Amino acid sequence: MTVLITAGPTREPIDPVRYISNRSSGKMGYAIAAAALDAGHDVILISGPVNLEPPRGAKIISVSTSEEMFEAVQRYADESNICVLCAAVADYKPAQVSPIKIKKRAGGLSLELLPTRDILESLGRQRGRKFLLVGFAAETDHLEANAAKKLRQKNCDVIVANDVHIGMETDENELLILFRDGERKKISRAPKQILARELIKIFLNSQQKRLTKKMR
Ligand code: C5P
Repeated sequence: MTVLITAGPTREPIDPVRYISNRSSGKMGYAIAAAALDAGHDVILISGPVNLEPPRGAKIISVSTSEEMFEAVQRYADESNICVLCAAVADYKPAQVSPIKIKKRAGGLSLELLPTRDILESLGRQRGRKFLLVGFAAETDHLEANAAKKLRQKNCDVIVANDVHIGMETDENELLILFRDGERKKISRAPKQILARELIKIFLNSQQKRLTKKMR
């Protein structure tokens, strides 16, 4: 199977030296990529800027902005059997990017922000898609309700939810996994490498079920 994984943050430029981003380390996405490779799959890892060693054997596509990540995912999704969108894509980007460094001056500075394109949602809208679509939900509150809403709104097959207080920038995580058919699974706190192995098994199983259902 071919597994596409997005990982890490994106950077939305303000001017040549500044950007908007977030604290995502990319560790969960990279661990999933490594687990998929270990299980013998082909991996396309579309990564935002992170400080991690790329897993050996993956096809690595390095991107910076949400727009670049969007283009890369569109390009490779259809040749993948499973798409795992684990990246913390910025939700907003500056309406204008200044070509020169914005100078400091007295008083405040307002930035107009526009929403970025939602990559997961765009794949969810794709009619007749062959790949299993997995989204992530990193939440500070109402974990299950927010994750269930994302599963529906973005039309994914699986949502992996975690509390940012536990999983952000750390080596461990605790996961709640929601499936389109209403099934749910919990995986208690463990190193991201161990969780990644479990997730790969779960995704393969879900894709297998999806295919047998389609054939019937
Ligand atoms: O809505 P929210 O950003 O919390 O949803 C998280 C999920 O959506 C993650 O799977 C993330 O990779 C994906 N996402 C995306 N494109 C965006 C925003 C989020 O693919 N612009």
